[in-house]
Amino acid sequence: RREENRRTAGEVCRMADGTRIEVFANLGRVGDAAPAVAEGAEGCGLLRTEFLFLERQSAPTEEEQYQQYQQIADAMGGRPVIIRTLDVGGDKPLSYLPLPKEENPVLGLRGVRVGLREPGLLRTQIRAILRVRPAGVCRIMVPMITSPSELQAVRAMVDEERAALGRPEPIELGAMIEVPAAALTADRISVAADFLSIGTNDLTQYVLAMDRGNPHVAAQLDALHPGVLRLIRQTVAGAAGLGRMVAVCGGSASDPMAAPLLIGLGVTELSATPAVIADLKAFIRTLRLEDCRRVAEQALAADSADEVRRLAAEAWPAR
Ligand code: PEP
Ligand code: MG
Repeated sequence: RREENRRTAGEVCRMADGTRIEVFANLGRVGDAAPAVAEGAEGCGLLRTEFLFLERQSAPTEEEQYQQYQQIADAMGGRPVIIRTLDVGGDKPLSYLPLPKEENPVLGLRGVRVGLREPGLLRTQIRAILRVRPAGVCRIMVPMITSPSELQAVRAMVDEERAALGRPEPIELGAMIEVPAAALTADRISVAADFLSIGTNDLTQYVLAMDRGNPHVAAQLDALHPGVLRLIRQTVAGAAGLGRMVAVCGGSASDPMAAPLLIGLGVTELSATPAVIADLKAFIRTLRLEDCRRVAEQALAADSADEVRRLAAEAWPAR
């Protein structure tokens, strides 16, 4: 079965009724890209750039970053590559970036909050991304967005760096939706963003008030909690008004129980762990949008993630 799925993995992914779903890969270093394409990745939906920044004594230079991004874009063979700007903070400290000691780092200086505090670091990264050729394959995605003003501030930096580099072509700029406030105000975030991508790992942590690294709550930390699903629905509804595409790049995009529900809620791009992509595409090809919508409606009215999982298992037992 798995061999059969790998043989057809390179084809575009359409549901049984013809609905197009893009299946992208989450990448965390250059060497991930070629195997992801072999598994059928249609693009990179999340490049976690922390690999360039962690465990070193000084920040990577623009040239160093550019080389790595270009290699990934080359390995992806012209497919879209969504590069997430640096997502570090109190939980992932950098020796060369002095940040204050925080009691609750997960609620502190993280993601875009660090980027706006250390604009030099962010601008260098933006320039390295803008230099990747061919122009247009890379998109920029910003983590931990809470309000449109943060994305507007990043866009101003992007526009200034574009002008400085003499790069006339625009570049798409997206917001990660991982803070509940951003999901609730997705209609406003969409005014500032070209696309949205839901990070269900952090969104679940913040919605359920359960630390994603805490083993005592790990068993209950489930992205299929109806509270998380309602925020995903709200995100899709908010984005629809401006015609913005909504992706999911958190762990639930790799979960075959979750994928049909995310599709039923209106998500059109799933960015998954490379190893599951061939099987995920094969599974999506068996689904019908109207079934996904029906079960997603039931899931929104459920009382627990366990109940949602039972509904999904009943609807798609063959999985
Ligand atoms: C997420 O939060 O779901 C996400 C994709 O980002 P990370 O797991 O890198 O925090
Ligand atoms: Mg995250």
